Amino acid sequence: MERTLIADLRQHIGEEVKIQGWLQVLRDQKKMQFLVVRDTTGAAQVAFWKGNDAALAERISALTTESALTITGSVVDNPVVKLGGLEIQLQTVEVNNLAENPMPFEPYGDTLPQLDFRQDWRSIDLRRKENLLLFQVQTTAEAAMREFWVNNRFIEIHTPKIISTPSESGAELFTIDYFDRKAYLAQSPQFYKQMAMSAGFERVFEFGPVFRADPSFTSRHMTEFTGVDMEISWVESHEDVMVMQERWLQFVYQRVKDVHGEQIQEVFGHEMIVPSLPFPRIPMAEAVEILKSRGYQLPADKKGDIDPGGEREIAAYVMEKYNHEFVFLTDWPIAVRPFYHMRHPDNPGLTRSYDLIACGLEITTGAQREHRPDILAKQALEKGLHLEPIQFYLDFFRYGCPPHGGFGLGLSRLLMVMLGLNNIRETVFLFRGPTRLTP
Ligand code: ATP
Repeated sequence: MERTLIADLRQHIGEEVKIQGWLQVLRDQKKMQFLVVRDTTGAAQVAFWKGNDAALAERISALTTESALTITGSVVDNPVVKLGGLEIQLQTVEVNNLAENPMPFEPYGDTLPQLDFRQDWRSIDLRRKENLLLFQVQTTAEAAMREFWVNNRFIEIHTPKIISTPSESGAELFTIDYFDRKAYLAQSPQFYKQMAMSAGFERVFEFGPVFRADPSFTSRHMTEFTGVDMEISWVESHEDVMVMQERWLQFVYQRVKDVHGEQIQEVFGHEMIVPSLPFPRIPMAEAVEILKSRGYQLPADKKGDIDPGGEREIAAYVMEKYNHEFVFLTDWPIAVRPFYHMRHPDNPGLTRSYDLIACGLEITTGAQREHRPDILAKQALEKGLHLEPIQFYLDFFRYGCPPHGGFGLGLSRLLMVMLGLNNIRETVFLFRGPTRLTP
């Protein structure tokens, strides 16, 4: 018999079906047994009258919650049943995998253990309905991102993650043994996205792993995360990159809301708001003044950068003034930006760059890149870099490279914002941090 998904049971009233899933609840009563069985599409009640077969009733009594089962039975309409107003009258049950009892914790139990313990048992933690929904949302979001880009002439690339030279700074690099020499894990696809511009691809995107040897223990940092990157040619400034990003994000939000909005409200108690266009833009110099006027003191060592508290304060200002969850902070000082960000022709202390803050959290850095090799080399030297290790990169710009720009976005940070969650460890399939390498 073919498997029927639980969501489709209503189309099979009066028929015999086979369902497969996990035993969420077993109510073993005097005469009847009720099993709540769950698959990824929903949960259904299965009933068995003990008088039908005493031996089978005994086997059912021995089932443990979260066991993996295959059940056959006939589907009957029963408006009294809370789960979908129907019930399966059990005929056979096959135990595919009996769950040990007790479990480390019950994903559908009444109490939820601490996050760290749940991470130890992530395979069980992921069974929770919140997590199932979260990764369905992520799937929809990634598909929408891709759809938007494919419809807009973008080409997907996959760049190497084993590299010889850092693309950002040396500070957050993981070193690996590579035969008889050292290599590094890529902390962004930056150089290679730009190579695709030189190659004439004009518009590219990449979903890929990003590695950062950052020893911090914050609620928004991981040592490995999924980066969503794009790069486009023939831009006039970072404004063109922001316009592309806001249209893209609006499309993704609309799609996720259409498909999952109600469930997100129900499971996370969070209302997704599809952002209106254009997103507000605030130059950094102005943002610093706004923070001052609101009594927010930026740490003195920030050199024109903004700290997480400042990001939240600016988000509060933007919400009050523009009723918007997103804000582009633009035109950052060169001291806090990498050498490849293009500088303002009329103010060389500033870069043509931006960060996108969503609900008070930084989710993106973007910029126009410097595509003129002599200026690029000069900026690299100014930042204290040696030219020899990045010569291959500088070569990209020697034989006809269009002006270009792009951005990098952290997928799990976007999920935090979309679902209103406050810890990145809840929004990533498996967390990697300074002290976590398992499971
Ligand atoms: P932050 O200031 O929060 O450390 P960053 O300025 O180092 O971030 P970028 O190098 O600009 O970040 O990376 C682009 C995007 O990648 C960020 O906006 C963020 O969404 C994501 N990101 C960066 N570092 C991490 C990390 N350690 N863990 C998860 N996501 C990250």
